[in-house]
Amino acid sequence: MTADPIAAHLSGLLGPGAVLTAPADQARYLSDWRDRHRGLARCVVMPKSTPEVAAVLQYCNEAGIAVFPQGGNTSVCGGSVPSEDGRGIVLSLERMNRVRDVNARNNSMVVEAGCVLATVQEAARFAGRYFPLSLGAEGSCQIGGNLATNAGGTSVVRYGNTRDLVLGLEAVLPDGRIWNGLRTLRKDNSGYDLKNLFIGSEGTLGVITAAALKLFPLAPTTLTALFALDDVEQAIALGEKLQKQFPGELVALEMMSRSELEIVLRHIPGSHCPLGEKGRWQLLVELSSSALLPALTEQLNTCVEGALAEGIVLDAVVASSEQQREKLWHLRHSVTEANKREGMGLTHDIAVPVYQIPAFIREAGAMLARDCPGVEVVIVGHIGDGNLHYIGMVSHEAWRGIENKPGYQLRLAHALYDIAIGMGGTFSAEHGIGSLHLAEMRQYKDPVELGLMQQLKQLLDPKGIMNPGRVLPAQS
Ligand SMILES: Cc1cc2nc3c(=O)[nH]c(=O)nc-3n(C[C@H](O)[C@H](O)[C@H](O)COP(=O)(O)OP(=O)(O)OC[C@H]3O[C@@H](n4cnc5c(N)ncnc54)[C@H](O)[C@@H]3O)c2cc1C
Repeated sequence: MTADPIAAHLSGLLGPGAVLTAPADQARYLSDWRDRHRGLARCVVMPKSTPEVAAVLQYCNEAGIAVFPQGGNTSVCGGSVPSEDGRGIVLSLERMNRVRDVNARNNSMVVEAGCVLATVQEAARFAGRYFPLSLGAEGSCQIGGNLATNAGGTSVVRYGNTRDLVLGLEAVLPDGRIWNGLRTLRKDNSGYDLKNLFIGSEGTLGVITAAALKLFPLAPTTLTALFALDDVEQAIALGEKLQKQFPGELVALEMMSRSELEIVLRHIPGSHCPLGEKGRWQLLVELSSSALLPALTEQLNTCVEGALAEGIVLDAVVASSEQQREKLWHLRHSVTEANKREGMGLTHDIAVPVYQIPAFIREAGAMLARDCPGVEVVIVGHIGDGNLHYIGMVSHEAWRGIENKPGYQLRLAHALYDIAIGMGGTFSAEHGIGSLHLAEMRQYKDPVELGLMQQLKQLLDPKGIMNPGRVLPAQS
């Protein structure tokens, strides 16, 4: 029996095994996967159903206890771990992991929030359908976390962000009321679109417990190619060319700097670049189509030959087997793990209009060379979406020598954000705000917009129990 009366009460509500209090049991819920953010909690609760989530929230709301919802804990901005004061609870969705329904005729599925993204993709595939959301963390992140952060990933060019893949939602409000908005309709203009209020709200307005998702036909043919280029302007030009030539078929346009590729090759066993040392930039391209493989391959090869003849690209390889395709994607998906091993990656998740990418890279590079000697520029980007993960890589040794690390980090980040925002961009393209970007919310968000967000928060969560200290800066 636990000594903490709140944990004991929650245990009474949810039954045996659903509440963790021992430090060793709680440990993996209290720090993020890079160990950059840590918190404390009275306990971790793991409800198994929507009514159980409702019971937990109703009790916490009445007692004024902070609730930190957690999915797969893959957040990169400190959104998924509780605060340091240890007065709140972590609400893990991991036991709410049922696929409730897959309806191939309606091209829809209903899944619980704790389903791991890869499981959702697999369940769709099993029914002969395709769920397009895809990201490096798909083996760990949960669909509830993807919804709460409106995750982007590698298929946005063709299918949009998570928000664009949702038909309906079920959520528990901070006071414990259950909102069942699990409709699977393509058209429903019956009032305000509340699901979009919860999507991207990072657990600050309630707990998402289930979602109705859009499915797509499984394309018979998928083709992946890697291009080596020396000039980022040409990478953008190639992206535009591919978009024109393969409308509706271009799924991914992922760019990586040579510096990033070298880090992956250095740290990820078995990684290999088929284009050797060619190119300052690598562009990974994926097409999916109803055309048969030989026809699509021929079309892509013609495009590759054209790009080579025009001097846009230095070299290219088109994957000729599923194994080759996986190896190309492995380079891309290993980026985060490799960077973690390389050093202290000061990551910035900016977006600018696509055509501004070369100008951003030029200006940001000049700023870093001038103001941050010793920092290596490493870039990986979803360039079809104008989204760059612009990373200042500092060796572990050099990082230890930098005094006032938070000040250094903030100055660098704001110098980059100023450049992005000056070009009509943003400081947070797809990772969200978490606890990391509160200063930027204060500095860069339109005051009217921020005020409206605060009013909505007050309306739905007047006691401020949901994920306090995330997304919205404290009001002065
Ligand atoms: C290797 C790697 C690659 C990545 N690539 C991408 C990428 O390409 N694109 C991208 O957008 N992100 C990417 N991310 C970031 C991360 O995976 C996403 O933000 C993901 O959507 C988070 O899902 P999660 O289940 O891990 O949520 P968590 O990290 O557990 O939580 C994230 C936020 O959502 C809230 N939350 C979680 N579940 C719920 C729920 N059911 N109801 C209400 N609130 C909830 C949490 O409180 C927190 O604020 C990557 C991360 C890693 C480690």
